[in-house]
Amino acid sequence: MLCEVCFNIGIGARCAICNDERRDQSVLCVVEDPRDIVAVERTREFRGRYHVLGGALSPIEGVGPEQLRVRELLARLDAEEVSEVILCTNPNLEGEATAMYLARLLLPLGVRTTRIASGLPVGGDLEYADELTLGRALEGRRDVGA
Ligand SMILES: [Zn+2]
Repeated sequence: MLCEVCFNIGIGARCAICNDERRDQSVLCVVEDPRDIVAVERTREFRGRYHVLGGALSPIEGVGPEQLRVRELLARLDAEEVSEVILCTNPNLEGEATAMYLARLLLPLGVRTTRIASGLPVGGDLEYADELTLGRALEGRRDVGA
């Protein structure tokens, strides 16, 4: 089942992370795929919550913003007290394009938007990054501007 809040895979209507009240409600980590949540969780560097896009922008494969859960992300930012959005998409062409697209969309909303640091294997997939490297990328995240 997909979590009704973040679209992670879970058992009930809400996944274990959304149900955990100890998680920081003010930070959202935006990932492409539920497998990326597993990868970020392994680092133990992140105590906030997630939002799963369900892919990345890819003009070649016909994936535009409408095919991703962008509208749902905006709705969450509207309804929840989020002060930082971490763009944790894959360090490849599609992932970078998706991060830049979202950064431009979020900028006028006044929410702090950060991108994980480079240093991850370029062209790679987050889920294959080891936890040390991914942890460092999260820690070294930078604010993104226009
Ligand atoms: Zn959830």
